[in-house]
Amino acid sequence: MSSTASTLAAPAADGGRLEVLFDELAELTGQRNAIDGRIVEIVAEMDHGDLCGATGARSVAALVAWRTGSSLSNARAIAAVAHRLAEFPRCVQGLREGRLSLDQVGVIAAKAGPGSDEHYARLAAVATVSQLSTALTLEPRPEPEPRPRPARSVTKTSDAQGACYRIRLPREDEAIFDAALNSHRDALLAEWKRDRDVNGGGGAGVGVQVPPVPGAGEAFMSLVEAGWDGEVARRPHGQHTTVVVHVDVDKRVAALHVGPLLSDADRQYLTCDATCEVWFERHGEPIGSGRSTRLISRRLRRALEYRHRTCAVPGCGATGGLHAHHIRHWEDGGVTELDNLVLVCPYHHRLHHRGVITIRGPADNLTVTDSDGRQLDSGSLARPPNHPPPAVAPYPGPTGERADWWWYQPFEPQTPPTNN
Ligand SMILES: [Zn+2]
Ligand SMILES: [Zn+2]
Repeated sequence: MSSTASTLAAPAADGGRLEVLFDELAELTGQRNAIDGRIVEIVAEMDHGDLCGATGARSVAALVAWRTGSSLSNARAIAAVAHRLAEFPRCVQGLREGRLSLDQVGVIAAKAGPGSDEHYARLAAVATVSQLSTALTLEPRPEPEPRPRPARSVTKTSDAQGACYRIRLPREDEAIFDAALNSHRDALLAEWKRDRDVNGGGGAGVGVQVPPVPGAGEAFMSLVEAGWDGEVARRPHGQHTTVVVHVDVDKRVAALHVGPLLSDADRQYLTCDATCEVWFERHGEPIGSGRSTRLISRRLRRALEYRHRTCAVPGCGATGGLHAHHIRHWEDGGVTELDNLVLVCPYHHRLHHRGVITIRGPADNLTVTDSDGRQLDSGSLARPPNHPPPAVAPYPGPTGERADWWWYQPFEPQTPPTNN
């Protein structure tokens, strides 16, 4: 009780100490703002020079979060300001001089309309972050632009006879869809032939007991029903719709089943995790349907997850839908064992097989390099400084005055001149 009393009494007894602490806080905050300003400039150079792609990072913000050991929200603010550096010279100048904080400039860069630099630079000199946010919501918004066509879509028109579906898929989905549809059609065709043979074959029975030759429509419904009936329990953990790939073992050429030839990168990507059924062929004759050991069993997958829960690429941290990647590809004799497998997210898995990043073993001590051969590591770049802190004035902070929104004039975007 006495300690509480003394803590409470301390400021009153020694108001001077608080002044000293506030003073130091203002000085450090000013320096921190100035440092953030320089960080923003550095990130802008990486952003505009397109230097981020080489590292395999998903975005500028992801790169910043990784390299500075900061949270993604902090990194997003830095990336937002960096991206609009040229649009907000006054706000960034305030940051560089320690007068504005990263959070203040960050909300401006994230939401403010074009041409508003001067308006918000003035407002930020007195407004808190939440007051700036309110001001930004008061800014009249232009009509939202028509959004780009979604990559995938299913549209339907119905009439008395039935429905007509239009399905739009991006290229990579197209391959999966075609493979799935074709494999169902083949199965239906085989079934149909067998039934016809049993029923005596020939011309007599056709049109009476034997249904018509199954086509794409039947295959599509069979696919839907398989998915509908199957439920997730039937599928092995982490496995997707089966894509059938034919691999010529001598020539190392692969094609999707009744589909296009695959590039080396696509072949290795598709055949790396057990997401497809692989038919090995020599001189066009099937010689086997994939090594059964190549399938990653539940047990092996659990062991992989236990060893490392996230994508193995430093700075990624993805945990959902990970693929088991063969470090030494099974085509080259790599085994499907813990030592040769590593979990990577689909994004980085593709990136690796396209040759943008490289992943080298052993599995417990991976080496991941970017497209320039630089090794990626997961730590932040932070180290003790070699230079004195920036010489800037202490940060006074927002005035903290109650905002009177009644009298506030929101930023008015300039309407572009029209020709008619
Ligand atoms: Zn792989
Ligand atoms: Zn990843």
